[in-house]
Amino acid sequence: MVQPTRTSSPTSGTFISMAALVEGLQTDVDHRIADRLQRLGHVPTCAPGCAACCRQLVLISPGEAQAIRDFIRSRQDLWEILEPRVERWEQAVNLDSELTEMLLDLDYCEGFPDPEEGARMELLYWERRLDCPFLVEERCSIYPVRPFSCREHLVISDPRLCSESLDLPQTAGSRFEYRLVATFAGEALFGLQNAIIPLPVAVRSALSELVEDPSPILAEAVDQWVETAKRKVRIGLAQLGIA
Ligand code: SF4
Repeated sequence: MVQPTRTSSPTSGTFISMAALVEGLQTDVDHRIADRLQRLGHVPTCAPGCAACCRQLVLISPGEAQAIRDFIRSRQDLWEILEPRVERWEQAVNLDSELTEMLLDLDYCEGFPDPEEGARMELLYWERRLDCPFLVEERCSIYPVRPFSCREHLVISDPRLCSESLDLPQTAGSRFEYRLVATFAGEALFGLQNAIIPLPVAVRSALSELVEDPSPILAEAVDQWVETAKRKVRIGLAQLGIA
């Protein structure tokens, strides 16, 4: 069950924002991952300072970008450190025509390429070894609100394999695709774009003063809707043989 931070008004019920909904989903998926690992007897080999996966293409839902934005705004010093890193990432992409074209293609299909094309994009990006702009001294500077794709990526093989290949590391079976749940919820409940977007692009856009926050909505219908979305994603993953 999602348990986000909520605001209530005695006259008009309980309201929930998209960022708070993401916060609840993060808690939920963390518990699911812990349960799954315990059941499978898996102990991740990921450790602080081990950040090879932070050079992979990270795609997030617009709602996650709002949660990260709120976190950055609550830490006054953080954006001063992060903005030059985001700019460096943007410059590196702009100077690389193949990467620029790939990100445009990704934008064109709203983050949902067909699987073969998606694998080609992931490999192309990974070969560039671009640091995630939120990686500071080999640690995640937004760890409490890190994206679902980062939370769900846990490795149980020798961590040295992670910087050698995309395919060699053995993962922990902790992929639940909550970014899809957040994407579906963002669109259906808050009118956000139904897309998954490269992390630096999504956060830069969420931080823009020109982007209006969707209004919080009444919480009563949210839990049931989100449970249905999780079930649909779970069934989809099972059909793909992933979960
Ligand atoms: S958000 Fe954090 S965990 Fe995810 S890739 Fe960036 S630095 Fe790594």
